[in-house]
Amino acid sequence: MQNIHCLVYLFIAIFLLAVDKPLRGQEWKSGISWKVPPTVSPGPVGGPPHDAIILFDGKDMSAFEGGENWRLGDGYVVSDKNGISSRQAFGDCQLHIEFASPPEDQGIGQGRGNSGIYLMGRYEVQILDSFENPTYPDGQAAAIYKQSPPLVNASRPPGQWQSMDIIFRAPRFAADESLLRPASVTVLHNGVVVQNDFELEGSTAWDSPPAYRAHADKLPLHIQYHGDPVRFRNIWIREIDLAPKKLKDKQDDHASPPKRIDLWGATPPHAKGDAAKDRPYLELYLPESESAVGTGVVIFPGGGYGTLAKGHEGAEIARWLQSIGVAAAVCDYRHQGKGYRHPAPLEDARQAVRLMRTRAKDWNLQPDRIGAMGFSAGGHLASALATHFDDGEPSASDPIARQSSRPDFLVLGYPLIALGQPFTHARSQRNLLGDNPDADLLKKLSSERQVTSDTPPVFLWHTGEDTGVVPEHSIAFYEALRKADVPVELHIYERGRHGLGLARSVPTAADWTARCVAWMRSRGLLNQNP
Ligand code: MG
Repeated sequence: MQNIHCLVYLFIAIFLLAVDKPLRGQEWKSGISWKVPPTVSPGPVGGPPHDAIILFDGKDMSAFEGGENWRLGDGYVVSDKNGISSRQAFGDCQLHIEFASPPEDQGIGQGRGNSGIYLMGRYEVQILDSFENPTYPDGQAAAIYKQSPPLVNASRPPGQWQSMDIIFRAPRFAADESLLRPASVTVLHNGVVVQNDFELEGSTAWDSPPAYRAHADKLPLHIQYHGDPVRFRNIWIREIDLAPKKLKDKQDDHASPPKRIDLWGATPPHAKGDAAKDRPYLELYLPESESAVGTGVVIFPGGGYGTLAKGHEGAEIARWLQSIGVAAAVCDYRHQGKGYRHPAPLEDARQAVRLMRTRAKDWNLQPDRIGAMGFSAGGHLASALATHFDDGEPSASDPIARQSSRPDFLVLGYPLIALGQPFTHARSQRNLLGDNPDADLLKKLSSERQVTSDTPPVFLWHTGEDTGVVPEHSIAFYEALRKADVPVELHIYERGRHGLGLARSVPTAADWTARCVAWMRSRGLLNQNP
């Protein structure tokens, strides 16, 4: 009996191990090669760390201008006569300072143990004897003076040593002296959090409201003399960089410029000249090799066949695909803005898929996982490609010409699909086909009328508020694909104008990238190992 139990447990364990990986899904990686953080020896408990700048070690006040007027004691200094300013200037910093209020009862309210730490000489963290000494809350110890009372009163009695640990981010100003980002401060008073990333409204003053005036990136630290003999010791500071950067900015910084590849080695078909506009090309964005999944996508930006929206419908899309391990190639195809009508854009689209498939090995791609993605008029081009591909010329001497131009899957954002309809985007159609295209050509390039069971699987998304290219286009394509038994998924979001790209500005529609990832995953397009 016991043996049977053991076997059952063993089988359960094996089962859990076997399903463990798929259940957890695929690891997401940011695509950033982070610098290894430098090592800092932290020193004794309470510091100073080895990279700290020692401003006062208990003996020497030479790091401060005016420090000669403060009275040195045994391992401490007592404020006197004037405030002091560090000779060195600081911006973003971590500051440690220890102080003791005068042990003798000196006065009441602001008149007892008053001093202050002025970051950059203008942003005060209050020092006061606030032990059983009421005053206005935004003026008590560890207040950001007249701006933010401490979260709690963590003061020790007068005469006892106290610590203040401050993390300060300097304000950032633009070249025109306007404020880009306010200063912020975090304070631990005797190890207790009393200010948490408080954003200052400006410099702190007794007699005027807070206000910012542009100043240098670094300025001296000032310690106030307010008439009270406050003791200080162990003052050290670390320069740090708290420049705010979002993950996305980091990713953009990190990304190297895309590699540009001529689409046609020789003269492109239908070429009208040999200028830059006559030479379509791809911009290639390869993922980090360790996150690469072996899938490639040619991106066709929109622009009404008169221009190309290569930012939000090109590079931004490519960077996103790169971040999920997919190789992306933004296709700079010919269009009316460069003097080209049908069939030049379609020829370029076919060539782009063939080229990517030919280079699959070099770019770590599987030749049967080359998709197309298009937006607006670029969505029309991708749909035309998916309904007018060819198998390639097996006998061609050019290896690219031997490849099939059929995309293995299609992702379309707010695509133009149907031509010659009352709801057709007129300018795009005119740019592609001229003023009076004949009925056969209109039919041929109305992708919903060209779907067959060979059309590759399609992911579609659109927004209901799109008046440029109405969602009827996606709906017509969806119905045609369904009739032909082609796998298709359609998302129509209520909100959002035309031309959203990644749609970061519209929270509901921004969901499309997640839906697209789920769809691609369900089709095995994001599996790292086939
Ligand atoms: Mg003060």
